Amino acid sequence: MGKKGSQEDQLRDIISNIEELNEGQTEFLQAVREVYNTLNPLLEEEPEWINKKILQRISEPERQIIFRVPWQDDDGEIHINRGYRVEFNSALGPYKGGLRFHPSVNLSIIKFLGFEQIFKNALTGKQIGGGKGGSDFNPKGRSDDEIMRFCQSFMTELYRHLGENRDIPAGDIGVGTREIGYLFGQYKRIANRYESGMITGKDPQWGGTLVRNEATGYGLAYFVREILNEQDDEIDGKTFVVSGSGNVAIYAIEKIEELGGTVIACSDSDGFVHDKDGIDIDLVKKIKQEERGRIKEYAEEKGVDFHDDKSIWTLECNIALPCATQNELQKEDAETLVKNGCKIVAEGANMPVTHDAYETLRDGDVLFGPGKAANAGGVAVSALEMHQNASMDSMTFEETDERLQEIMKTIHKTCSETAEEYGRKGDYASGANIAGFKKVSRAMIAQGLI
Ligand code: GLU
Repeated sequence: MGKKGSQEDQLRDIISNIEELNEGQTEFLQAVREVYNTLNPLLEEEPEWINKKILQRISEPERQIIFRVPWQDDDGEIHINRGYRVEFNSALGPYKGGLRFHPSVNLSIIKFLGFEQIFKNALTGKQIGGGKGGSDFNPKGRSDDEIMRFCQSFMTELYRHLGENRDIPAGDIGVGTREIGYLFGQYKRIANRYESGMITGKDPQWGGTLVRNEATGYGLAYFVREILNEQDDEIDGKTFVVSGSGNVAIYAIEKIEELGGTVIACSDSDGFVHDKDGIDIDLVKKIKQEERGRIKEYAEEKGVDFHDDKSIWTLECNIALPCATQNELQKEDAETLVKNGCKIVAEGANMPVTHDAYETLRDGDVLFGPGKAANAGGVAVSALEMHQNASMDSMTFEETDERLQEIMKTIHKTCSETAEEYGRKGDYASGANIAGFKKVSRAMIAQGLI
């Protein structure tokens, strides 16, 4: 067998060793396979990385913290949740990544998110390492006071691991501006420091940045615009289906509609609304953000269809944007999208497309924007927030949005050019993985065996 063959074998052995070490961590292993299986052309160029065990080093977090979060509800009943922070990689900067509060959270989910975050953060070009955290706490239906008590208890343990040059959390599913406020307040109280840069996603009134709320969704729309630009095409006149109705989905819809696209559906965990004339984003904002209600209410108010009996991906569209959660778009959904003539799928959520579905899309000539590139706008603007906190300065909405557009353009260019350079033209997923991995690995090697 030639040199190339043995390299592929070695890669296979490394992956199966990682599988053994992390048995049962389904989502984490899915994320590792998704990245490592695209790295062959890079390892041919850098064969010594095998001896330096760079793949084994990157897939092992630098530190993992698991802790008890006790809190009392409004009736005085005691609850115990589990808190996590996985400090995955600090080659490029302090650990950076969001906190997720959702009952599905476990170590595998946090490790998959943290692993993705390493490469996503590398692609932003900012000095930020990768990390992620959260809890299996379910915020749904909880009062404001309960949320505050939970956040305070969570931070009472986590604060000792955080700091503007150490580890900087932000939001994710179930964690928004309100939760960031309570978390920051408790950190300040325990540490006795007004350390603005220790968390991002803060209210712009007291240290947050403008555009952070919009950044992931807007960034996704800008990434799609770049994909279309490369095809000499544009968003104007295209039909979109967007899953989810949280922060990412809302601002993706808002920007797409501003750029002339029509979004005909969005969803939550109960089902989806189908509004052929285009989603009324102000109504979605009122229901989901102001009233913390359900998307079903949109259908009732507008007199349009609500479905809880079939997948949102059965709707015909030019472009599909999964913005809800991991593994929400599966093989049969991908088959339907291909059959219906969908041309682009870009991930607003982290890993919403399963591996089988990705292969179906690729074979069906659907262009695919991987989450670590397409949804990197959120963390990129978090880095701009850190920058403003460090310099005690602030930028206008327009300036920040301008910077975000530039960053998304650069990320797209990096993915596109890297894919072409390594013989995978048009394959943004391989481009993103190779470019991100290369940057992190080079920094790790330069910093010695640590
Ligand atoms: N949770 C977001 C993500 O998945 C943002 C992280 C951050 O701003 O640190 O990238």
